[in-house]
Amino acid sequence: VLNGAKTFISGGVLADLVIVVARTSTDPENRRKGLSLLVVEDGMEGFEKGRMLDKIGLKTQDTIELSFCDVRVPVANLLGEEGEAFSYLGSNLAQERLAIAVGSVAQARTALELTVDYVKERKAFGTPVASFQNTKFELAAVAAEVEAGQAMLDRALAEHVRGELSVADAAKTKLFCTELQARAVDRCLQLFGGYGYVLEYPIARLYCDARVSRIYGGTSEVMKLIISKSLGL
Ligand SMILES: Cc1cc2nc3c(=O)[nH]c(=O)nc-3n(C[C@H](O)[C@H](O)[C@H](O)COP(=O)(O)OP(=O)(O)OC[C@H]3O[C@@H](n4cnc5c(N)ncnc54)[C@H](O)[C@@H]3O)c2cc1C
Repeated sequence: VLNGAKTFISGGVLADLVIVVARTSTDPENRRKGLSLLVVEDGMEGFEKGRMLDKIGLKTQDTIELSFCDVRVPVANLLGEEGEAFSYLGSNLAQERLAIAVGSVAQARTALELTVDYVKERKAFGTPVASFQNTKFELAAVAAEVEAGQAMLDRALAEHVRGELSVADAAKTKLFCTELQARAVDRCLQLFGGYGYVLEYPIARLYCDARVSRIYGGTSEVMKLIISKSLGL
């Protein structure tokens, strides 16, 4: 019998089957051991979907709250072994973080490309914005950062394909690439001037969408905690 709630579920409106991490036993000695994966199906009594959250970005993706009130989940819907959820999550979270990092570098690169095109067209004081040294320096710096992120990402992807990506390396990659995305998109938006603040322009939407990368899949602070543990701290 499942009770509880989970805020922030991406794609929750459309999901007809959700995997819930639930506490199935309480062992004060080992809190991680008591977690299990339960498959809850749409239509099960007591399983409710809440309202769609009004986010500042990622407007095409729904994010909702799910609640579970005395939901009777059959034993057949236990996924994997009882009490092993934490270890399953440990291996799959690295892949989720890598996927977020891939999106971050791709969006930073897109911001760079959009901005390079824009500054060549837009004129200020009778001359293209691209002609200012500041514009060249800003975009050169962004381009260098994007390449650094891509190199880190490529290494992590190769490790992942070989089944060798460690939790700490996935955290380093997510931390670096999502922070890079934030810096890159912000610097690019600045070069659009006022139009950068208008949602009609893709750079403004990239800015709004970018903010969550440092939050979901584990915040930047949590990534730093994981990395610091790998340093023995
Ligand atoms: C759009 C969106 C989609 C999402 N989709 C999903 C989804 O599909 N499935 C899912 O399970 N989750 C999803 N999430 C949840 C997301 O993973 C969490 O919001 C995120 O991990 C942060 O957790 P929290 O919101 O509880 O923040 P909190 O834990 O309340 O954190 C608040 C602040 O405290 C900081 N903090 C917390 N602990 C520490 C610490 N030990 N040391 C230092 N600082 C700390 C955090 O970094 C943050 O700055 C989604 C979130 C959003 C916004």
